[in-house]
Amino acid sequence: LPLPRTGRTPVRVLTIAGTDSGGGAGIQADSRTMALCGVHAVVAVAAVTVQNTVGVSRFHEIPPDVVADQVRAVVGDIGIGAAKTGMLASTAIIDAVADVCGEVGLGRAGSIPLVVDPVCASMHGDSLLRPDALDAVRHTLIPLATVVTPNLDEVRLITGIDVIDDTTARRAAELLHHLGAQWALVKGGHLRGAATSTDLLYDGDRMISYTRPRVATGNDHGAGDTLAAAIASALAHGRSVPEAVEFAKEWVSRCLAAAYDLGAGHGPVSPFW
Ligand code: PLP
Repeated sequence: LPLPRTGRTPVRVLTIAGTDSGGGAGIQADSRTMALCGVHAVVAVAAVTVQNTVGVSRFHEIPPDVVADQVRAVVGDIGIGAAKTGMLASTAIIDAVADVCGEVGLGRAGSIPLVVDPVCASMHGDSLLRPDALDAVRHTLIPLATVVTPNLDEVRLITGIDVIDDTTARRAAELLHHLGAQWALVKGGHLRGAATSTDLLYDGDRMISYTRPRVATGNDHGAGDTLAAAIASALAHGRSVPEAVEFAKEWVSRCLAAAYDLGAGHGPVSPFW
């Protein structure tokens, strides 16, 4: 993506998500991905996680009206070319985000593209979403999405479909589109045993697949956030959804190949490639 020239105002992208005190995922991954994609990141914090490379021990939810007011404050003054959501934690926060998205024209019903990463749990299985909020993810959050980007665990929780092959991945993409997302990206990266990683992108018409060699690393913390942030950055630069996904897949492949050890657990994907 084109980097801004010195002194020129870059494109802006909003992330509405949770923090990661370990600096690997969430808003920290979003902000640095966006910076490296030539974007000024603006932020609405939805939750604060207490987290390191070993796991998430607890999280604190930001009051829903404070989340929505952060969005109003930055969209009105600074203006954005795209946005993404990550960890939203609860039904009340999802409802507040949906309301403010409608108000400021964010998402498929508005004029500003919105990437929805339906974050449910960390890679260690620690919950990042209250279990009773799954219905709000299905029926309030996903219908806002220009593109929704679940991993296979999230696909199972949201649709009940256990993706084991191309046929089940297609069924999941169709169901996610049916739930209201303009585009559904079913990420195959968590499919064990495969030598390649295939993601399927579907808009009710085109089914586009993206295949990359699997990168063997235990350090993949923040990969999903990085992908969604790179998609949102490319959309803000004016790319189409299929082009933005192509760009972001390549970006994450490089970040995975350069991932580093950190702490006693899973290190993060690396921005230094
Ligand atoms: N913490 C926060 C705040 C996140 O948003 C996410 C992922 O979306 C995670 C942790 C989990 O990241 P991972 O599944 O890569 O461990």
